[in-house]
Amino acid sequence: MERTLVLIKPDGVERNLIGKIISIFEENGLRVVALKKTKLTKDQAKAFYLVHKDRPFYEDLTTYMSSGPIVAMVLEGKDAIKRTREIMGATDPKEAQEGTIRKLFGLDKEKNTVHGSDSPESALKEIPFFFSEQELIALI
Ligand code: UDP
Ligand code: MG
Repeated sequence: MERTLVLIKPDGVERNLIGKIISIFEENGLRVVALKKTKLTKDQAKAFYLVHKDRPFYEDLTTYMSSGPIVAMVLEGKDAIKRTREIMGATDPKEAQEGTIRKLFGLDKEKNTVHGSDSPESALKEIPFFFSEQELIALI
């Protein structure tokens, strides 16, 4: 069993896609162990995406990610990190495979509807960014 952090980005919340997106993960055998709707400040978005601080898209990305409400969730399942990334599809919706969330709903390379941790190390940092120990204990 493995846990990963997933975000429904502002474009997904704005277009009323929360339920549809969670359903896709559930139908693929992943389980929601923690869930909240929230809104990041610009500084929080910059901290969350700190690994990208030197990339040209960092400024726009963090402005976008703090532009509206998001949904954060912890998903659990076998190989949850890899499977979540497969279910999401490629970063650029134009390159994402048929049936993936980004292919179905992504607007462009930035507004690509969902985030998922890319490795166990990332998940270990990203889960506590949004959820306390208390929120993660015995919720299954
Ligand atoms: N992003 C962007 N332009 C790019 C690459 C990425 O706006 O050229 C945004 C996009 O929202 C992406 C996020 O930055 O989801 C993080 O980029 P990363 O390469 O880590 O993609 P991901 O892991 O989300 O597929
Ligand atoms: Mg990434």
